[in-house]
Amino acid sequence: MQYAGVISAPGKNSLSPAFQQAAFDHLGIAVKYEHWPTPADGLETRVVGLQAPDVLGANVTIPHKEACLPLVHDYDPLVRRVGALNTIHNDDGTLRGYNTDVEGFLRPLKDAFFEPRGCTAVIAGAGGAARAVVIALAEAGAARIAVVNRTLERAERLVSDLGAAVKPLQLVAAPDSRDSWQKAAAEADLLVNCTSLGTAGTPEEDRSPMPANLLRPQALVYDLVYQPAETRLIRDAREAGARTIGGLPMLIYQGAASFKLWTGRDAPVDIMFQAAEAALAAEDAS
Ligand code: NAP
Repeated sequence: MQYAGVISAPGKNSLSPAFQQAAFDHLGIAVKYEHWPTPADGLETRVVGLQAPDVLGANVTIPHKEACLPLVHDYDPLVRRVGALNTIHNDDGTLRGYNTDVEGFLRPLKDAFFEPRGCTAVIAGAGGAARAVVIALAEAGAARIAVVNRTLERAERLVSDLGAAVKPLQLVAAPDSRDSWQKAAAEADLLVNCTSLGTAGTPEEDRSPMPANLLRPQALVYDLVYQPAETRLIRDAREAGARTIGGLPMLIYQGAASFKLWTGRDAPVDIMFQAAEAALAAEDAS
């Protein structure tokens, strides 16, 4: 038996064990995929432990994605560009870091026949997910991105950290104000929620980062929040006649890319979707 797992903050739930285990079981690969809640002061020990011969690797989630960089032996150029990793592969004792959030974000756009090349996008949020989305859209040839965030300094930091590396893409920071939204939403082909607003079981569950009456039917609205499946933003966007993408496909596709790095095999994506949806339904019922 081999092992893999997801390294998260203590007390945080993760869907990864449900859909990754389903994928290993479906392909008859003898791997047990576990949940590894880890406090910040236990992260180094946890990562060093991944070198054990019976460990395939790990997924890494908030808040450890940046802190893992100095703990692995080497990492992919994409990890350097984003400044965060979400996957570690134990390659015979050498720990290699990858960022599959970038691929995870782009695949649902492709499935929706959205062409990012030359697009104008607005991103709500300036945390780790927003950084991965900016790099993903830059790799895909987007023309302009406005990053709107509650804490303007954080959006400005994102722009100063990534701005030079993503040229010729034009990257600007904007405060979370009606004026910003009015301007950004009028121009945007793509609106992405990279904040946690709308997440089930939080005081912000019924909130959206974007004013509903500014959503245009021509835009594609992409919410990274995956629980609930229909967030307030997704509901507002549908009512405005816009096309939508929820957060579950990105979660599955980033996990599928991690699976391929560990096993060399294509992940059974349909099986992963089914397992994740069943786990979400079970959580909703409890
Ligand atoms: P993070 O680094 O903690 O950033 C959180 C962002 O949300 C910040 O921009 C923060 O603004 C904003 N925010 C939080 N509460 C807010 C509020 N009450 N009002 C306005 N803005 C608020 O987290 P992250 O890693 O970027 O993740 C962001 C979200 O994306 C999470 O919900 C996460 O689950 C989701 N996500 C989904 C996937 C997927 O595969 N579907 C992958 C990655 C992340 P401030 O800077 O002002 O605090």
